[in-house]
Amino acid sequence: MPYFICPNCRERSIDHDGLEGFSTQAAQCRSCGFGFLFQLLDDYYPAPSTGFVVCDARRRVLGVGRGVFELTGFREADLIGREIVEALALSDVASFDVVSEWGVRQLDKRSQLRTKSGLEKTVRLDLFPGYDDDGGLLVALSLTQDR
Ligand SMILES: [Zn+2]
Repeated sequence: MPYFICPNCRERSIDHDGLEGFSTQAAQCRSCGFGFLFQLLDDYYPAPSTGFVVCDARRRVLGVGRGVFELTGFREADLIGREIVEALALSDVASFDVVSEWGVRQLDKRSQLRTKSGLEKTVRLDLFPGYDDDGGLLVALSLTQDR
């Protein structure tokens, strides 16, 4: 059963009525109206601090959800179109490579990131491969002490 998550408000939904079945890009979030939902193979429970970043197959930022600003200091406009690993100076590049090469999720990784003001910070990183033809990925950033 496919699961969907809204990268903006973190609302989870299950495709039990088939409404989201045509395309992940066409479905809007019923909760906040965000333009698209991200399809997950298995359910995922984001932490209260989790902020999502949606990337394309080349890791360029397509969309930024709530919570990312609080964690990184970057607003959506600062990040759109930029390569995510480079933009946030993430230390754990290997996990991104595993997701792109093998199409499997990477959970509970620790990575350094650099905030907009230049502060180094350790975050929890969860990465999800996209299951549509675009081959993008969903990046979940959370505080390490959040769960
Ligand atoms: Zn939403």
